[in-house]
Amino acid sequence: MNRICELFGIDRPIVQAGMIWCSGWELASAVSNAGGLGILGAGSMYPEVLKDQIARTQAATTRPFAVNVPLIYPSIEEHMATIVDMQVPIVFTSAGNPKAWTQHLQSHGIRVVHVVSSVKFALKAEAAGVDAVVAEGFEAGGHNGREETTTLVLVPAVADACTIPVIAAGGIHDARSTLAAFALGAEAVQIGSRFVASRESSAHQAFKDAVVQAGEGATRLSLKALTPVRLLDNPFAREVWSAESGHATPEQLATLLGRGRAKRGMFEGDLTEGELEIGQVAAALNDLPQAADIVAAIDRGYRALTAGMTDPHFAWP
Ligand code: NDP
Repeated sequence: MNRICELFGIDRPIVQAGMIWCSGWELASAVSNAGGLGILGAGSMYPEVLKDQIARTQAATTRPFAVNVPLIYPSIEEHMATIVDMQVPIVFTSAGNPKAWTQHLQSHGIRVVHVVSSVKFALKAEAAGVDAVVAEGFEAGGHNGREETTTLVLVPAVADACTIPVIAAGGIHDARSTLAAFALGAEAVQIGSRFVASRESSAHQAFKDAVVQAGEGATRLSLKALTPVRLLDNPFAREVWSAESGHATPEQLATLLGRGRAKRGMFEGDLTEGELEIGQVAAALNDLPQAADIVAAIDRGYRALTAGMTDPHFAWP
């Protein structure tokens, strides 16, 4: 039995990343209904919005789903109270200290997973008592580690260092990359960009189209002096890159970023002034399928690739 499937009560070890402005109830419930784990991205949701999104997800699926809460979220107490009150079964925390909320959530029967980008933080998360970690490499979209450790290097290092199960993230979008993650020691994959470019994602159509059109080299890890984030090339990103090559101070970069850029880009479809967050793997995406078809294609492809393999680590539930 796969430890992640057992932990979450899901059929397939495929997790859809919780992504601000992109993963609302339609995407999360579609992935959960397809046998994976759908996640609501609560970082961009006001407390009332999160309540509504959880209620809609619960109406759309009877399967387990999760909420991702970036620990730097300003109204975090309200989000956590909602999660407990509405009996969300699983929480993915990120961008902060896992000690803060893990025990509280677990005392209410909630499974807790923390997202890390280094072995050091994986060990801290394990010591804080989390049930699993997501090891997210340099290729990933959105917030990312400063060390720039790639998925190929990070996942085996975290899998060797920890005893809790590891979910690999960053650059994974299909059966081949899923099998590669398992070869590195992961017991599940977390997939973001592939699900941004899906019918059910709440991203603006213009952003989805830009993701599908993105080619090799179209993204860059940016704003390392503030909070590192992988951005898709657009006029706003070029302004950032130009400021960075001119050695702008963190204060100047914060002023340039302003507020609400991510909403403007990814949710409202402003491809000029908005912030567009996506992974390197956008270059490999050429269509906008339904989320269930993404899960089914990985499921089918993984079985075909591993037919005849006998090592129990590669067993697919
Ligand atoms: P900004 O400070 O630029 O803007 C805040 C945005 O969040 C606004 O668009 C606002 O919506 C919305 N928002 C939702 N709830 C609240 C709240 N309680 N108080 C204030 N604003 C709220 O931040 P970002 O857009 O860059 O990031 C927002 C959140 O998402 C942060 O918690 C951040 O850590 C997280 N994040 C996570 C990423 C990841 O990779 N996981 C990537 C980037 C950000 P409105 O415009 O309607 O007021």
